[in-house]
Amino acid sequence: MMNFYGMTREMLRKYFVSQGEGTSKAKFLMRAVYGGAEGPTEGISEELMRKVKRDISFELPTVEEKREDDTACKYLLRLPDGCTVETVRMKEPYGDAVCVSTQVGCNMGCVFCESGRLKKVRDLEAWEITTQVIAAARDSGRKICSVTVMGIGEPLDNYGETVKFIEIVTDQFGLSIPPRRVTVSTAGLVPQIKKLAADGVLCNLAVSLHAPDDELRRRLMPVNRKYPVGELISAMREFSEMRNRRVAVEYMLMSGVNSSPACAQKLAELLAGIKCYVNIIAYNPTGRGEFKTAEREETMAFYDVLKKNGVRVTLRRKMGEGLSAACGQLRSDSMNASRHESMPT
Ligand code: SAH
Repeated sequence: MMNFYGMTREMLRKYFVSQGEGTSKAKFLMRAVYGGAEGPTEGISEELMRKVKRDISFELPTVEEKREDDTACKYLLRLPDGCTVETVRMKEPYGDAVCVSTQVGCNMGCVFCESGRLKKVRDLEAWEITTQVIAAARDSGRKICSVTVMGIGEPLDNYGETVKFIEIVTDQFGLSIPPRRVTVSTAGLVPQIKKLAADGVLCNLAVSLHAPDDELRRRLMPVNRKYPVGELISAMREFSEMRNRRVAVEYMLMSGVNSSPACAQKLAELLAGIKCYVNIIAYNPTGRGEFKTAEREETMAFYDVLKKNGVRVTLRRKMGEGLSAACGQLRSDSMNASRHESMPT
């Protein structure tokens, strides 16, 4: 059975046509469900609604665990097959931002990331991504103003379902989030970045770069062996030019690894002439203790070199630090806990 929350307007149109109904029922149904109306609404009779509910599931994941502080709320959601995914809601004054996962586990294997320790179990279906936003909105009663596809998993390794999700969240009859408030973050799958641009998918692109050259990036992110920095930069250029959007470059500072002024200088040279901005992110310790978060002074020195070279740069605020909010940490904690529970004493 199809799940409603994974159906784009086009898919719903096809469904209604197959039922001998008009295509306009698609937007009526979407408005009724996403607009939060209760009972029969405009264009959808009670009888038609009963039929729809026999053909289409409206199931949502259940909230298994929730951790909250002043800045963020992190959810562990359980899916029908028992898999769990993480979703984070970041609290903003004018409406919250939700960060969604796209896979159960991840195969990118970045050495600093907790998600990658738990290998990919499966891709999420579009409805399992959309309902993360809905679960966060329902739980909080807050308006969701932006969506980042930066949770567990590599979204461009689950291209089709991610694109369907983007279509549903940005649809004016769907979650109606403006395309400029939807950002997809990738570890750097070059062909899929180009495809995203060519397909005209309405979203922003963020690239997790974290190193200014192949030598270092290869050590941190195995994906770099397949798609080296030069190819990644030209894919970014292609995206920004085709879509006329600035690409976000994610650069997480790990003290003594990628945080030197020389690294910043190399990064500035690499990005010269590319329509982008750099987001400096603090490394969130994962418990393995391999890397150290850069101190304020080190961070500011890095920032200054970029600034001096004319690179646009922002320092990301820290959020949800105490919540195991870094990628994969909650799911990883919970899996460890259940492992301990099942250990003989
Ligand atoms: N696979 C995608 C999206 C998920 S990761 C990607 O790689 O972009 C989201 C972001 O969190 C990436 O920039 C990733 O590099 C970063 N990240 C991973 N582990 C982190 C950690 N321990 N501290 C801070 N950021 C981390």
